[in-house]
Amino acid sequence: MSALPSVYLTARVVAPGTVIRIEDGSLRRALAEQADIADVLIEAFRVRRDVIRTAAGAALEMIGRTGDSGSAALRTYAGHMLLPHSWVDATSAPGLALMRSAGLEDGDLPAALVRGAVLRSATPGTVADAIGLTYRTGGPPADLVVVGAGPAGLAAAVYAASEGLNTVLLDRTGIGGQAAKSARIENYLGFPLGISGEDLARLAMVQALKFGVRIFARYAATELDVRGGASGDSAACGTAVCELAGDELLTSIVVERPAGPAERLECRALFCFIGAEPVSDWLTGVGKDPDRFVPTPGPLPCQTSAPGVFAVGDLRSGSTKRVATAVGEGAAAVSSVHAVIAG
Ligand SMILES: Cc1cc2nc3c(=O)[nH]c(=O)nc-3n(C[C@H](O)[C@H](O)[C@H](O)COP(=O)(O)OP(=O)(O)OC[C@H]3O[C@@H](n4cnc5c(N)ncnc54)[C@H](O)[C@@H]3O)c2cc1C
Repeated sequence: MSALPSVYLTARVVAPGTVIRIEDGSLRRALAEQADIADVLIEAFRVRRDVIRTAAGAALEMIGRTGDSGSAALRTYAGHMLLPHSWVDATSAPGLALMRSAGLEDGDLPAALVRGAVLRSATPGTVADAIGLTYRTGGPPADLVVVGAGPAGLAAAVYAASEGLNTVLLDRTGIGGQAAKSARIENYLGFPLGISGEDLARLAMVQALKFGVRIFARYAATELDVRGGASGDSAACGTAVCELAGDELLTSIVVERPAGPAERLECRALFCFIGAEPVSDWLTGVGKDPDRFVPTPGPLPCQTSAPGVFAVGDLRSGSTKRVATAVGEGAAAVSSVHAVIAG
């Protein structure tokens, strides 16, 4: 089981042994039915990903110029997708050697080498295509399409797939949403030492793949044909801090609100927790509140005004904007999905 829809990693055997090739479906059945084997394999997958990631696997090599926007976009994509990869600056000695061996010219940068193929003027889209991360039609029909692979979407996908639903998960940037940008999430239950958002996202992705979720990114939903699906998205913050005051220590801040005059607030500390705008324009035919969050009037949990469409996590009007609530709502929405499928 690769962490990606199509295997692009290489391996080297260092001791004699036997390779047993198991079909995807049989492996997932074994993982579901034999807990002792599942424990060993899932831990091996997790460790393998960490090793490959930190050892900069040779399967995806990217080369470009530091400071160039195209190169930065490639690196950002690989980071968001938690792709094991190596990055080489084209002006360094290893970079020049790689350029020569791959037959690359300056005008070809940034470039990517994937499974022996050389992608010139590479973009996140061409890399995603080469490693099988762009959506391809023709697979089994999906019971549930989850838009957004933040904590809410990942949870919905994991719960749905573990309960037997054929699940597709799409994200326009990568895995983990806002949470993946958090250096340390201190308050998520079960992690007394805290956990980095990236680690949480990586573990959730391994869990999703274990249950057979088909993950595609970069894949942005741009429109909704209201016949079914679920969605999860990002947070908003309407108030802006425009001034900090104090000598050695902070004593007050000035905040500006969208409506009303600026206001000075006494305070001794400021916790920067900068939110994001809800991405809901593509949800055509679904009711939204004035701030573009999506209300869930029901009757099923997380159900929007459109039957068969559920909103979870930060996108949901009135949500708490926390990882734990996003995960809980993702799980809750799946029970609603079962109810819709059962008619
Ligand atoms: C820096 C930072 C630190 C934080 N720290 C904490 C913390 O310590 N504890 C805590 O509980 N919470 C924390 N939060 C808040 C927490 O991360 C969010 O509440 C949580 O990520 C919400 O999850 P979500 O899945 O609802 O949305 P998001 O995490 O916003 O994920 C939404 C996903 O949807 C994708 N998407 C959007 N539109 C489309 C589209 N049209 N098509 C396809 N994909 C789309 C986005 O790319 C994104 O990946 C933090 C947030 C930030 C920014």
